[in-house]
Amino acid sequence: MKDTEKIEKLAELKWPKISAAAWIRTEGKCAYCGADMLANATAYFTGFTEHILPTWKYRNRYADPFNATLACKHCNEAKGKWDPNGEGEQRIVTDAHRAITQTQHDRLIERVKEHIKEYKDASEKNFQTVKGIIRP
Ligand SMILES: [Zn+2]
Repeated sequence: MKDTEKIEKLAELKWPKISAAAWIRTEGKCAYCGADMLANATAYFTGFTEHILPTWKYRNRYADPFNATLACKHCNEAKGKWDPNGEGEQRIVTDAHRAITQTQHDRLIERVKEHIKEYKDASEKNFQTVKGIIRP
């Protein structure tokens, strides 16, 4: 089935096109950690369509298809409202009037992955401590 057909079928289920495109592009996996959001119903209901450039700062990017991706609950929380675009010469998306390209999309995803790694290391440590107390 073509991606356009998949998007149409999900639209029949009241999915916004931007979400459908994001889930299809990632094949139902978290763009940041690869967790399979279609492994089972529990995973499915913890998958979020996420705006890579946060909408609090980039309101005009709300419906930009390449500003959306799929994130698991953990990655979505770890990223929060953080802006991966960078400042000055580090900026990836500079032209406010042009749609985000696939290349810019991929580079932004890589930055988010780096950003959330520290958060995940800390939460893994916390998890191991708690688990060690509850199940010594
Ligand atoms: Zn994830």
